[in-house]
Amino acid sequence: MRPLVAHISLDALAHNLRVARKHAGQSKIFSVVKANAYGHGLTRAVRALGHTDGFAVLTVEEAANLRQMGVEKPVLLLEGPFQPGEMSSISELDLMAVVHGDHQLEWLHLATQPLHVFLKFNSGMNRLGFPMARFEEVLEHVRAMRNVARITLMTHFATADEALGIDWQWTRFLDKALTSGLPISAANSAACLNHPETRKDWVRLGIMLYGASPFSDVTAAELDLRPVLTLQSEIIAVQQLKAGEGAGYGLTFMAEEPARLGIVACGYADGYPRHAPSGTPVLVNGRRTRTLGRVSMDMLAVDLSRLPGADIGSSVTLWGEGLPVEEVARAAGTISYELLCALAPRVPIVEI
Ligand SMILES: *Cc1c(COP(=O)(O)O)cnc(C)c1O
Repeated sequence: MRPLVAHISLDALAHNLRVARKHAGQSKIFSVVKANAYGHGLTRAVRALGHTDGFAVLTVEEAANLRQMGVEKPVLLLEGPFQPGEMSSISELDLMAVVHGDHQLEWLHLATQPLHVFLKFNSGMNRLGFPMARFEEVLEHVRAMRNVARITLMTHFATADEALGIDWQWTRFLDKALTSGLPISAANSAACLNHPETRKDWVRLGIMLYGASPFSDVTAAELDLRPVLTLQSEIIAVQQLKAGEGAGYGLTFMAEEPARLGIVACGYADGYPRHAPSGTPVLVNGRRTRTLGRVSMDMLAVDLSRLPGADIGSSVTLWGEGLPVEEVARAAGTISYELLCALAPRVPIVEI
């Protein structure tokens, strides 16, 4: 069998939810399990997140899966219905739904039972949501709808993980929201951790549950979060390069002095980022080294020059325990979210 495997720790997932609970305070937690639970497997994640207050997903299909698993807790559709034809399923599955635009408001009469609506306002991210300038008008309209049983006000932050922070959006949103007396949901992981005043009634937590830090300057370990997924493989070949020889497609790595390379059974078809440059961190036998040259479809090369003990069969950690996925993501010019979500279906998963 190919040695590549993703170890997923259900204990770590449950631990991270407990950490999240401390940060969330009195607020209820939606565990965000969209994108196959950020690549960790929907069913598996739901099993480990039994103590959550609710789940948030993207599609009616994911929500139906949750109900089939016997989940009776609240389930929120993060972008609401995409088609009017989904309204009947939303009713049958007893889902909460975001409503972010006028087209969705028109579909609400198709619900076969009164709905809990998460009315989303655009406080500055300019992605989804009614403009704040229409707050009173939209709210009055929705309050009068017979098919709306409850309303929670919602917004989403663009810079909760950055120096700019959330104040510029939060005051804009909160000033209006408070006048309504309605429940509020605003915080994602970054806001929940860094801006506790935004926690309010429901927080929507994704990345921190999977053990990655939403911040570039604070590690997951510093937040007491444990990596849930560890992507592990082995060295399957060793190459001794003379000075002036190259390795990999395009020979983008050229040895300036004699070098010892390990070839690892992991490539971009497994979800390892092809754009990770030479120098991306990797662990061999638990010791830190770096990738060399281009990532191939099924393999990549690592530097063994300073690891004489490493050989065919030596263990390799691409990310996870001992090597935060955020670090690999940063080296590859992306974020942990993308690497986690991109784990390929061909990678076998072992629960630990
Ligand atoms: C995905 C998502 C979240 C979760 O964000 P994290 O940064 O992973 O905590 C929260 N809210 C909305 C609307 C989302 O789409």
